[in-house]
Amino acid sequence: MTFDWNAHRFSGGVLALDLANTVVFREAPERSQDRFSNRAEVPRFAAAAADFRKGEWGNVEFHSPMSQSEVTKLINIREAINRLFRAAVHEGGLKSEPLSTFLRLGSDLVCDGKGEQMLTLPHASNVGRQLSLAAAAFLSGVRLFEPSRLERIKICPNCHWLYYDESRNRSRRWCDMSVCGNRAKARRYYDRNGKQAGSNHV
Ligand SMILES: [Zn+2]
Repeated sequence: MTFDWNAHRFSGGVLALDLANTVVFREAPERSQDRFSNRAEVPRFAAAAADFRKGEWGNVEFHSPMSQSEVTKLINIREAINRLFRAAVHEGGLKSEPLSTFLRLGSDLVCDGKGEQMLTLPHASNVGRQLSLAAAAFLSGVRLFEPSRLERIKICPNCHWLYYDESRNRSRRWCDMSVCGNRAKARRYYDRNGKQAGSNHV
């Protein structure tokens, strides 16, 4: 069965966080799972992201990495995005070490592509643009530096995904109410009503 890159997988709300969320359960290493451990999922993610992130990017095409070194660059920027914004949530702001790593890797990414990449920060435009998935994720992350955006980044207590809370009073508690919110509700129900046979806490 192929993996489904559905709307739930794009609960991050912006490309940078969606990319970081291709690893599930980041804060529980024994349960952690990397969707890109199957490299065939990378181009499928890139295609789905162009569709789900139209509100952020407009008419865009994300080029998936072709060579092994490009795949490595994508994974490196993914991990840098995760460290930078996870630390920002936990510690209340951008921290120098993860920020420096993020900028250093991003600096390389914007030099790739023989100057042909359209490197304007993401905005919803009908003018078609193309750039590498890794450079796009970097630019999407840069746009989150603005304090009013940074303070909207949260961590889902169920799956540990990073997500951008666009609700008016910043009241969103889960990456996706219909998935993680409901799982937590079910768990509370079982806790209240005693353990039932076969109800393992997944
Ligand atoms: Zn979640």
